[in-house]
Amino acid sequence: MKLANAQLLQSQAYINGLWQNGSKTYNVYNPADGKMIAKVAYCGSKETQAAIMAAHKALKIWQAKTAAERGMILKKWADLMMKNQEDLAHIMVCEQGKPLSEAKGEVVYAAGFLEWFAEEGKRCYGDIIPTHDMSKRLMVIKQPIGVIAAITPWNFPLAMITRKIAPALAVGCTAIVKPSEETPLSANALAVLGEQAGIPKGVLNIVSGDAPAIGDAIMQSSAVRKLSFTGSTSTGKLLMSKAANSVKKLSLELGGNAPFIIFEDADIDAAVEGAIAAKYRNTGQTCICVNRFYIHNDIYDSFIAKYKEKVLQLKIGQGFEDNVQQGPLINQAALDKVERLVGDALQQGAQLVCGGKASVLGGLYYQPTILSEVQPQMAIVHEEIFGPVSVCMRFSDEEEVLQKANDTAAGLAAYFYTQNIARSWRVSEQLEYGLIGLNTGVISSVNAPFGGVKESGLGREGGSQGIDEYIEIKYICSNV
Ligand code: ADP
Repeated sequence: MKLANAQLLQSQAYINGLWQNGSKTYNVYNPADGKMIAKVAYCGSKETQAAIMAAHKALKIWQAKTAAERGMILKKWADLMMKNQEDLAHIMVCEQGKPLSEAKGEVVYAAGFLEWFAEEGKRCYGDIIPTHDMSKRLMVIKQPIGVIAAITPWNFPLAMITRKIAPALAVGCTAIVKPSEETPLSANALAVLGEQAGIPKGVLNIVSGDAPAIGDAIMQSSAVRKLSFTGSTSTGKLLMSKAANSVKKLSLELGGNAPFIIFEDADIDAAVEGAIAAKYRNTGQTCICVNRFYIHNDIYDSFIAKYKEKVLQLKIGQGFEDNVQQGPLINQAALDKVERLVGDALQQGAQLVCGGKASVLGGLYYQPTILSEVQPQMAIVHEEIFGPVSVCMRFSDEEEVLQKANDTAAGLAAYFYTQNIARSWRVSEQLEYGLIGLNTGVISSVNAPFGGVKESGLGREGGSQGIDEYIEIKYICSNV
């Protein structure tokens, strides 16, 4: 991998401000061509315990700074990310496979969390409470929760880390980050820039390798007071059960099963544009990607015809090629899952509108696909696809579609298109989801709270709410 700033390419673990070896190494591959791109330090329990100790020790020096001083460092870090945008995007394309334009966009998004929480940290106000007794005065202060752990996935190798550590560090917490073993190089590059920005040693630590062993070391430690996890629902549930041991505070951002409803009064061209963005971004590999399209009978055929035209124009290829919009899937298991779900749906009578098989490019590429006349009992409706497949179903009235859209244990994002104002309110309120896209397919924002209901998770990230996840509230009652 050739970078303008070669320093950014680090393959060791980052513990207590030092780059260190693990017990062995593991290989990181480029999903676009299957070639090995790095041998990375393989960490387990021992390295994680060292990282926890370092983070614990660093609390004192980090909390001795004012919020404004910490904020200055976070802002400098954001600036450094933007100065190194090309290189950071390059690393992401190589280890994750997303198109370069999306990777550059992610750098902006990820740096945005550092910038946003650099400011929010300064506004972590307490309260003075009217007293119940004139001999007493009551107040509330907000304090950092302590050492936190962040376990993150591969689909947004930078943004999922900064979304967690920016609020944590802003309020005075220190952190251990375990990035996905598919994408450790982006996390390491971020740490290099953090150090250059002035993050003191031990405040940020990065370990990857043996995920269950690292997870256990984190969950068993009473020094780690909080876990913020983004990943699969099954791993999230496992970690939630392990958190009981030391009663850790938890934020969980788990799987989704997003519906996208197009009512008969929708602007169909706008819905097509929103659908492309909400379905095919990152090759369908985001937890807020559409899993199920519900299209009103009256406009079903015209929507499918226009949508097909756009889907067929999506350019697949290696992320560095010009105008590429669809990259490879992350690994063989992801490709196998998409093939299994599509095969099952077709066998049960779904109709193939376009795509439906692996791309001629071979490897981990799958054709952008549309399935029509899908039925509710098919596995593809219930399982998270995490690939470039649009699953289209018909509906005929609002109550019916709301019941279908809510018929899932997931509750992360939902989208709908209508031009009726009363319906906009009604449906927004009745969808059992944490995030709603109303007449838009692009909803994520540094400024807004992101998170799900039901089995999609706990807590909110980003926005002014994102900071609450990393503070404890202390009530002080004073005799006067
Ligand atoms: P995905 O299927 O999207 O990779 P995972 O939940 O397996 O979702 O992965 C999300 C993150 O959780 C990754 O960093 C992964 O290494 C980590 N992880 C997986 N299993 C465990 C575990 N038992 N303990 C701690 N972390 C885990």
